[in-house]
Amino acid sequence: MDNAQHIAIVGAGLVGCMLATLLARRGHRVSVFEKRQPPSDSAASGRSTHLVISTRGWRALEAIDAGPEVLPATTPLNGRRIHPADGGDELFQPYGQDGQAIFAIHRNTLNRILVRLCGRTPGVAMHFGRQCVGVDLEKGCIELADAQGEQREVVRADYIFAADGASSKVRELAGADGRIASTRTLEPFGYKEFTMHAPHATALAADAMHAWPRGAVSLFAFPNPDRSFTATLLAPFEGPDSFASLRTREDMARVFAARFPDVDPAPFFGELLGNPVNSLVTVRSAPWTLAGRLALVGDAAHAMVPFLGQGMNAGFEDCMVLVELLERHGDDFQAALGHYETLRKPHGDAVTTMSSAAFDELTRQISEPGFHLRKQLERMLHRLYPERFVPPYQLIAFTHVPYADVLHQIGELDAVTDELLRHADARSEQAATVESLIHSVISRLPRGNHADQTH
Ligand SMILES: Cc1cc2nc3c(=O)[nH]c(=O)nc-3n(C[C@H](O)[C@H](O)[C@H](O)COP(=O)(O)OP(=O)(O)OC[C@H]3O[C@@H](n4cnc5c(N)ncnc54)[C@H](O)[C@@H]3O)c2cc1C
Repeated sequence: MDNAQHIAIVGAGLVGCMLATLLARRGHRVSVFEKRQPPSDSAASGRSTHLVISTRGWRALEAIDAGPEVLPATTPLNGRRIHPADGGDELFQPYGQDGQAIFAIHRNTLNRILVRLCGRTPGVAMHFGRQCVGVDLEKGCIELADAQGEQREVVRADYIFAADGASSKVRELAGADGRIASTRTLEPFGYKEFTMHAPHATALAADAMHAWPRGAVSLFAFPNPDRSFTATLLAPFEGPDSFASLRTREDMARVFAARFPDVDPAPFFGELLGNPVNSLVTVRSAPWTLAGRLALVGDAAHAMVPFLGQGMNAGFEDCMVLVELLERHGDDFQAALGHYETLRKPHGDAVTTMSSAAFDELTRQISEPGFHLRKQLERMLHRLYPERFVPPYQLIAFTHVPYADVLHQIGELDAVTDELLRHADARSEQAATVESLIHSVISRLPRGNHADQTH
């Protein structure tokens, strides 16, 4: 390739590996620097062990031919199973139509597959145990050191990508003196993970995410391929029933009996008390590119709370947008980076906003009968008017509609659903009248709002 460039990517997490493979496949020389050692089966990431891949993520995985290796390691989830507070029958809410599914995978498994793929891709050089400790954009250099901050070396690159996550060191170093403004919002609640091993989890159906939505203290569980479940206990850091006060087996037993009566915590006390509490952070930053030489991707650009399961999916979409821009601009990185910022940032902002809004839905609303009715109505409207009405979650998880457009459409979709639900209260309506009512309200929506759009 005539205009092959040397690219330095800091961070061999999910997004860094994806970008490295995509860029090397275009003929560029890519060096990836990762502060940790290569991911192994047993290595704890210090974060959620589970990730959910949806349509946006699959598109990127397929672009690097990772699908055949990734798919067998996933567990398809068709919906969520809601466990009511009174211990009664669970409620199933499908994620989409006709068995549409999102796919749960262990974070380290996916990271391992992507690292392996990088290693097999000509043009990619992986450097583990190398942390970025300095950035000089004028000279196009990054400084690297080992875990002890020693064995320093300076590496030159034509372009630098920060894929080093929510606490991005590259963003901090390059953006010093106010060149990059970033806000970091720490949630007042955190999460703790524990494993429900097979004998204790057999009552849970393995086709869904299980939720015990009880507001500030809620419980979620994702099935694993071996029939165990990875559970996440969400709770405030401080106050009553907070992680600060849940210190003993008795504390845990009391909270589970009051909030999750169908789950016996006794087999899990060890992990429930011993595992670390992780925090959740939202990061917004601007600009995403600097000096025509640096770009932020993935969590380094936009870290969001996980309630929509879109952080990695959005990061993969960043990479796809970047390579599509390179294609459009004949691999002129300067031009591509300029457009990347304008084209992509509004969507990063939108998915971050939608993720924050999803907290209340996942921890409270989904257990309310009115919400369940709403979801049923949304699915019915989609069946009747597939070109005009696609439920909000389906737009996010099963299409490529840009996130900012989804955010805009949600307002219109919610207004239509609200109006129909108001009318549904008038039980005397005849069927024909209800149909004409639905038709008159739905006709306001434009056709084709779910087109398989890309950017
Ligand atoms: C509880 C939870 C659940 C989630 N669930 C989902 C989900 O279901 N679906 C989804 O799409 N997303 C989910 N996410 C979000 C997802 O985890 C992130 O969006 C994704 O990991 C971002 O990938 P990344 O490569 O940008 O950053 P990271 O995964 O954070 O990777 C950054 C890498 O950079 C390395 N690094 C850091 N600093 C340096 C340095 N100075 N030098 C060299 N290397 C460095 C790190 O070691 C790391 O390997 C979830 C997040 C959480 C917290």
